Amino acid sequence: MEKSSKIYVAGHRGMVGSAIVRKLQCEGYNNLILRSSLEVDLRNQSHVEQFFGSEKPEYIFLAAAKVGGILANNTYRADFLYENLMIESNMIHQSYVHKVKKLLFLGSSCIYPKLALQPLKEEYLLSGFLEETNEPYAIAKIAGIKLCENYRRQYGCDFISAMPTNLYGPNDNYDLNNSHVIPALIRKFHEAKINNAGVVEVWGSGTPLREFLYVDDLADACLFLMNSYSDVHFVNVGSGEELSIKDLAFLVKNVVGFNGKIVFDKSKPDGTPRKLMSNEKLFKLGWKNSISLKEGIKMVYNDTFKKEVVS
Ligand code: GDP
Repeated sequence: MEKSSKIYVAGHRGMVGSAIVRKLQCEGYNNLILRSSLEVDLRNQSHVEQFFGSEKPEYIFLAAAKVGGILANNTYRADFLYENLMIESNMIHQSYVHKVKKLLFLGSSCIYPKLALQPLKEEYLLSGFLEETNEPYAIAKIAGIKLCENYRRQYGCDFISAMPTNLYGPNDNYDLNNSHVIPALIRKFHEAKINNAGVVEVWGSGTPLREFLYVDDLADACLFLMNSYSDVHFVNVGSGEELSIKDLAFLVKNVVGFNGKIVFDKSKPDGTPRKLMSNEKLFKLGWKNSISLKEGIKMVYNDTFKKEVVS
């Protein structure tokens, strides 16, 4: 990409899209196209067609998606499948029609089978059954990968895909019913601290293992891949740092400074028992993350919640 290339970041208001925009701006890319979902509804075929016809983007980061945590995925199952399939199909097809120079599609680590060997290597895709709670979202993301793969195979389009592990960072969703675990825990511990509550409830058994990546690290990896990777096979983007939900809860508790107790609500789902991605491929390509989990959680907490208390 040139600094003046016309770059469309789809989903720029979300956590991932906004991190990609920050990264591109910081690196001097000065011709970004940004549209809210009210301006262009990416689920709508004719909106997307019109948008591509008038804007003619050269490069695309496809970070627009309907996303959420374990409960949202399990509750809005039809919406997660339908909306994500529509966004991807419209975006990827129009990128082919309008000869976009390169497109990067963002997936998720939930595309892997529930009981796949760990760490999850890219070639384990479609080798077993998916986790029930997020199967619709995973099916949609697998379809996105396959669209990129097959538009490349049939039409020679330079479309690539990256699969990030569980992400957290600025502009995350803090709605307790729809959020992922890190924002949920930050909010719960923070509110318990300021309300002098004795107990914080953590969902599930605490035993599932998860890997986390700060979203600015992901944005860095996206730019790296956009500028250096061109292949039919997708690439994992992880941190290699894995811990149990119980250990995560204690880490967030300490960062926030909550002194009460933690209890586990076993009536809530655990989801997949373990989800550690293999970073081997991306490391070999020459990229590594730089922000540790503790540092990242401190940054998010200080930027999002402490400000609120001080002001
Ligand atoms: P997942 O990685 O797709 O399962 O997505 P989540 O980030 O929503 O959940 C990760 C794990 O954290 C699951 O085992 C949840 O049960 C657990 N967890 C513990 N407390 C919470 C919470 O308050 N919110 C969410 N979303 N997950 C929680």
